[in-house]
Amino acid sequence: MRALVLEKVGQLSLREFPIEERLGPRDVRIDLKVVGICGSDLHYYTHGRIGPFVVEAPMILGHEAAGVVTEVGAEVAHLVVGDRVCMEPGIPDQTSRAARQGMYNVDPAVRFWATPPVHGILRPSCTHPADYCFKLPQDVSFAEGAMVEPLAVGVHAATKARIRPGDTALVLGAGPIGLLTAMAARAGGCARVWVADLDAAKLEIARGLGFDPIDVGQGTPAETILPATEGWGCDVVYEATGSPKAAAGVFAPLAPGGCVVMIGGQSEPVPYDAGAAMVREARVENIFRYAHVFPRCVAMIASGAIDVKPLITRTFAFEDSVEAFEVAASAPKGDVKMQIAF
Ligand SMILES: [Zn+2]
Repeated sequence: MRALVLEKVGQLSLREFPIEERLGPRDVRIDLKVVGICGSDLHYYTHGRIGPFVVEAPMILGHEAAGVVTEVGAEVAHLVVGDRVCMEPGIPDQTSRAARQGMYNVDPAVRFWATPPVHGILRPSCTHPADYCFKLPQDVSFAEGAMVEPLAVGVHAATKARIRPGDTALVLGAGPIGLLTAMAARAGGCARVWVADLDAAKLEIARGLGFDPIDVGQGTPAETILPATEGWGCDVVYEATGSPKAAAGVFAPLAPGGCVVMIGGQSEPVPYDAGAAMVREARVENIFRYAHVFPRCVAMIASGAIDVKPLITRTFAFEDSVEAFEVAASAPKGDVKMQIAF
């Protein structure tokens, strides 16, 4: 079938690609409708690797997806042909020790779309375990359904923070993950959410969504947060930049007893201000993707508790997906999430 293939670093093609997928008894076959372009897809395109995952053979990109069920395996009970679904891209070994303990996302054997050597889903159809497909209500669009995957990162981060109603939060980074984390923090009960970034266009989007922007080119987040909180600090700090400099400063704006959630990936060890963490008795949480949150994300989009639509700033046709990646890789100001529609 035709697919968007990363041939090697910097080289994409939309071409016929041999891929055979058998429908297992617990699988469904899905016609893809919308696929989001993720920072990780772009990173494989521009760098050919993320940490230990190296692109060594042509690989189909894409993992943020929604579509329609076209075929159902014999043992699948909760889905029927015609159901609209979004898909959780990581398939763990259900019998692994991590999966049995409920942490299936950290199962070392997890197979995740568009993470070498596993192919992604920028192609007209795929098969997937029905257990990792989640029905979309009629009033949730495919475009919104394809936002569930990145939203799941923010919701998992908010869950790990154990937000209490009325908490205050700071999100470092106003990219798609930062903004979705800010939305998850607000939906989880935060009374006020600051979003910090260097990019004025992104901060303007954050402001438009009702968050308090902090331009880190003008000063540190703590210089805004401390005066605004009578010197106390905010209850939760989310690090969603992956920048070592941002990571080094996570405790300065944090309130005593507060929680830091590390979201952004770091390729090298980063400085950690142990003294600042100690005097606050800070709790530090780390997340790796997400677990158990897709149904919650769908429910919040359906109820209106979270509106992801303003973040979808551009949509390309599948036929134009090479161009879509070139545009996305140039990181145009004012764009948050770009998607590809079939
Ligand atoms: Zn993603």
